Amino acid sequence: MRHLSWLPVCIGVAFIGAAVFAQSPDWDALGKRWWSHVQFLADDKLEGRDVGSPGFEKAAAYMADQFRDAGLQPAGVDGYRQPMDFDVVRIDESRCSLDLLHDGRAEPVKLGDDATLGVNPHAAENVEAAAVFAGYGLTVPELNYDDLAGLDVKGRIVVYVSGGPAEMSGPIKAHYQSGEERRRALLKAGAIGTVAIPNPKSAEVPWSRVAASRFQPRMELRDPGHGVPPPLQATVLFNPARAEMLFPGSGHTFAEILAALNSDKPLPHFPLAVKIHARVGITRSEAKSENVVGILPGSDPTLKNEYIVVSAHLDHLGIGEPVNGDRIYNGAMDDASGDASLIEIARAMKDSGAKPKRSILFVSVTGEEKGELGSQYFAAHPTVSGPIIADINMDMYLPLFPLKYLEVQGLGESSLGDDVRVVAEQAGVKVQADKEPEHNRFIRSDQYSFIKKGIPSLAFKFGYIPGTPQEKIFKAWYTERYHGPADDVNQPVDAAAAAQFNAILEKLVLRVADADQRPEWKPDSFFRRFVP
Ligand SMILES: [Zn+2]
Repeated sequence: MRHLSWLPVCIGVAFIGAAVFAQSPDWDALGKRWWSHVQFLADDKLEGRDVGSPGFEKAAAYMADQFRDAGLQPAGVDGYRQPMDFDVVRIDESRCSLDLLHDGRAEPVKLGDDATLGVNPHAAENVEAAAVFAGYGLTVPELNYDDLAGLDVKGRIVVYVSGGPAEMSGPIKAHYQSGEERRRALLKAGAIGTVAIPNPKSAEVPWSRVAASRFQPRMELRDPGHGVPPPLQATVLFNPARAEMLFPGSGHTFAEILAALNSDKPLPHFPLAVKIHARVGITRSEAKSENVVGILPGSDPTLKNEYIVVSAHLDHLGIGEPVNGDRIYNGAMDDASGDASLIEIARAMKDSGAKPKRSILFVSVTGEEKGELGSQYFAAHPTVSGPIIADINMDMYLPLFPLKYLEVQGLGESSLGDDVRVVAEQAGVKVQADKEPEHNRFIRSDQYSFIKKGIPSLAFKFGYIPGTPQEKIFKAWYTERYHGPADDVNQPVDAAAAAQFNAILEKLVLRVADADQRPEWKPDSFFRRFVP
């Protein structure tokens, strides 16, 4: 217990002690309350909260009830709910095959061990095409960087290693690696498919877990909004440990490419000698799900028509391949923790009688694990008419140890970074920029749906100093629990530190809600381009 345990022996300053006490929340008690929401949402009974499942519906009902208790008004289209429709496809591996053709001789690729096939509602059932190795497969117009330049990719499959050149800035690299931007460039160049080889330098989870996830249903919004490029005909993910299979006869080896990666040298570009033949069997269905939206209306007659979104995702991966006999992917940190924080931040505002000038929208979104679909839907079809001026997103912020450092994704991109610096420092917490930009976390959660609409946004992780035990804990969490059944309620979590995080985010949101000016992208921010 860290808080105020010295008070009883602090004789003679009872009055001051009382004042200090009034200002110092009981982090353990607040942490317990936060944890109780995580326990509900990540219970086995909710079966991993998959989109369209009864478990998700229970979670959505819980969020609506908690939002009501926390004093939020309904701000969906049906009470607190904002429903939406999905097309769903599942892979049927009994009807799938993947072969490498060497001069007509077929070499089978073992699905699961060597590679996995991607599926989407528009995937071709049978694709056979020549293949080209295109380095990182990136096209970045503003840097005149184009891995596809000078290569004949028309009608072909582009093989690439994920990541990008070391000298390219994190946000640009992250943006152009997003599925949408990759598709835009690849389709324009005439490519029909991709084989992505995860960069071993930035692998977060072992291949076995990547492979296990291929049976997850793939979903798409029926109404995604406009400007979204269509899917490619074939997408393959190749195990880097088996990628050498792709290179015989090309005059190059994967070992050579790995060596270039590891020494930050440019990657070669060349046609492969193998052709790729993919047969994809899928089963189709439909699903309905919803975002849960509550509002704390603003108090200023004009500014109340501007909205700050505080978001977290409610869905997780559902039931999947067993790991150590456990099939339920509970998603306690990913992202029941964020939903629990939404509730607790709203409740803290109610308890303190906060009267923010601008309105605050608490949005618990569906479909994040399917590609940030619920937030994309919300950003395309907002349930309020006034402008959304910021998104403060919480996804798996990992309160695994005391909160001394707060890592902020998007820290240098907008004035929100300055705001979080102020409120964190008032709480005695130092902010850090993203230490692992190669993981693309700034574009890998729901904030990106808002960023693409030009809305300044932030996301968070508990920070640490490299080389300390906290780094070990943080990294081990990814290896042992991330997107696995072990991300459940039987893991060690620092609930009091989560409560401190909630308090910092509450102050951040109120500061933005009461500021004279709306948040703005920094003049040199890459993301400024999305402002309409
Ligand atoms: Zn996730």
